[in-house]
Amino acid sequence: MISDSALAESFFRHGRSDACPIIDMHGHMGRWKGIYFPRASAEAMIHTMDQCGVRLLVFCHHAALFCPDIGNAASARAVRKFPDRLRAYLGVNPHYGAALAADLAGFDDNRDVFVGLKLLASYHQVPWDAPAYEPAWRFADQRGLPVLGHTWGGSSLDGPEQVRRAAEKYPNVRLLLGHSLHGDWGEAAAIARDFPNVYLELTAVLDDRGVLETFVAAGLSGKLLFGTDLPWFDPHHGIGAILSAEITDEDRHNILHRNAERLLADVGAKPN
Ligand SMILES: [Zn+2]
Repeated sequence: MISDSALAESFFRHGRSDACPIIDMHGHMGRWKGIYFPRASAEAMIHTMDQCGVRLLVFCHHAALFCPDIGNAASARAVRKFPDRLRAYLGVNPHYGAALAADLAGFDDNRDVFVGLKLLASYHQVPWDAPAYEPAWRFADQRGLPVLGHTWGGSSLDGPEQVRRAAEKYPNVRLLLGHSLHGDWGEAAAIARDFPNVYLELTAVLDDRGVLETFVAAGLSGKLLFGTDLPWFDPHHGIGAILSAEITDEDRHNILHRNAERLLADVGAKPN
């Protein structure tokens, strides 16, 4: 209950809680076609993070996903400017195989920046099991890296069947289901229970009331990761939804930072 939550009281009173240093596992950065983001630069995003008590953001710059001439260099610049607040996913664009090969070849030299990979199949219109993604999957599987994939219910590109197939084929990948197969909540919970390395990420999940409680009731408190798509959505909305859910403060700590801390430590990217 919210009324029993010391954590909720602390956030509602102070806007943040030192006892709960939030890790946002799903962000982006930079401008976006057709939408005005008032706070899209690294500096402005960190200002937002400070206001909301977000300790660390793991993100993938929009340029890494949509501007191959700039690519992942944009993420690297931001992380190196704010190494205590930011880490990045290496963006995988399946339409630029040569650039991807070069990025993967340089990955190990840039471990101070990159903790894993990011797929955006629904936007790139290439299914997860397409040959263009195979080098990225194999690379992540060999190293046991996190892969944050945008996933959506009903999609033939990154929906439940694609997710299940990837989880079976690449068991060492820490598979982070961005948006938790939005709308296909039952399948998301089933897959997260079936595969030890599958996690559910909560961006846009919290627009649907009751889903979080369903996930926690399914025994998945230890596999849920907080995320916001920053600068798309305000962290205070997501944090407020978690504080207002009918779950315990232990669950809230798991979701808001502990699960991410453990995951990042497991892959050698322990936050400072
Ligand atoms: Zn995203």
